[in-house]
Amino acid sequence: MSSYFITRANFEKFIVKLIQAKKKIYAPVSKKQSFIFDELTSFDDLRLDYDVTILPPKKYIFPPRQGLLTFDKQGHNSLIAPEDKILLGVHFYDLKAIDMLDNLFAANNSDANYLANRAATTIIGANIQKISKRAFWGSVGKDVRPHGYDGFIIKLDGGEGYVYECYTDKGSALLKSGDFSNASPAQIAASMDINERVLKQCPEKLNHSSKEIATKVRSTFKEKQLWEELADDCFSCGSCNTVCPTCYCFDVQDNWNVDQVSGRRERTWDACMTEDFAKISLGGGHEENFRESKAQRFRHRIMRKSTYLNETLGGPACVGCGRCSSACTADIADPAKAINRIMEL
Ligand code: SF4
Ligand code: SF4
Repeated sequence: MSSYFITRANFEKFIVKLIQAKKKIYAPVSKKQSFIFDELTSFDDLRLDYDVTILPPKKYIFPPRQGLLTFDKQGHNSLIAPEDKILLGVHFYDLKAIDMLDNLFAANNSDANYLANRAATTIIGANIQKISKRAFWGSVGKDVRPHGYDGFIIKLDGGEGYVYECYTDKGSALLKSGDFSNASPAQIAASMDINERVLKQCPEKLNHSSKEIATKVRSTFKEKQLWEELADDCFSCGSCNTVCPTCYCFDVQDNWNVDQVSGRRERTWDACMTEDFAKISLGGGHEENFRESKAQRFRHRIMRKSTYLNETLGGPACVGCGRCSSACTADIADPAKAINRIMEL
């Protein structure tokens, strides 16, 4: 890793030059009272002081709706068409989430679509300047550090400028667009201190280690009453899944043209909290739903986030972004609240 420094004024010129270059840039911008990742077309729109975005930046690597292939009598044509792009200003918890998706989509039957999109993406992280009200990233999966990104921007206190950490050739390739100098030891120390300090400022907190949580949560699998209480107010809307940076389930549909021989295969994000997610055909007009009750679905979601995937991922499949807590009308989706309650039993 190499660290560079760029002044505030030159940072603006750097971003403008990136916008003018060929690659598209997706970055945090404001939308009414909230923030979203969107295409950046002007430096003035860039909001590196965002707290959290409504949807995670995974949408540019694993889109909510994606064409997979077209088919006709002759065969099929792949629709894999990765866009060369920069994801700019990604907070460390979303970087961790992308690492998880990289791992999961590469395992077993690797997902060519995801991997092609991922390879075409340069990811530049940014330090957290403002903290969302429901975050608990300071205490979840503390041993898991993000690693799959190309560069990281830290805004120094006092507004003198930014430290830019380069981790890969893709990250270093951006240096030519800006007037960077080597960061001084004092600037590097200041940037590290900023990242350490923010970890202690989360409004919500898990009170136990990931290992303790994984064991305890798993032991409650048969506590029917507990899960019914936790899920009692659930509307089965699936919003907690939709906003989650680590959820990766999808549904595949073949959309046939009127000729009945050609069409298009698409995939869309799916949500395990919705009633039909686990409904399967048994043939002969029969069907079964293997997670019929909302308590079963709520338990499944919390188990997935805190225990089932820990071995594969090296830590919990939740990064503590707090998006699910904010998106839940019933205010019951918060994993930190549910887990802390379970740990008290
Ligand atoms: S479960 Fe909730 S807090 Fe955890 S990563 Fe998903 S949206 Fe964020
Ligand atoms: S927990 Fe909340 S967000 Fe998730 S499905 Fe239930 S009501 Fe919807």
